[in-house]
Amino acid sequence: MIQLAQLHFAERLLRQRKSQRTVARTAQISRGTVATIAAGLHRHQLAPDSPQTPDDWTTTYHRCDTCGALVHLPCLACQLREHLRLLGKYHAHPHR
Ligand SMILES: [Zn+2]
Repeated sequence: MIQLAQLHFAERLLRQRKSQRTVARTAQISRGTVATIAAGLHRHQLAPDSPQTPDDWTTTYHRCDTCGALVHLPCLACQLREHLRLLGKYHAHPHR
């Protein structure tokens, strides 16, 4: 289990476009967990009682450079695609 502070630290690093490998090493969490956080699917991010979302998550939409969708950056759709790509790479038969 990771601490909320680690989760928020990892999210901040990911917003700074750090690689997931770098984020994992810097925040001292597993690369699988970083991939989950990058995709916005970590249970701390999904929990209804999660403390709060970053201000920029709720207030501003931006055009995603990668897919062109109007989204909250970083683009969840692109992160999810990256997450699924990593799952496909590292786990040929994902169970979840
Ligand atoms: Zn996108």
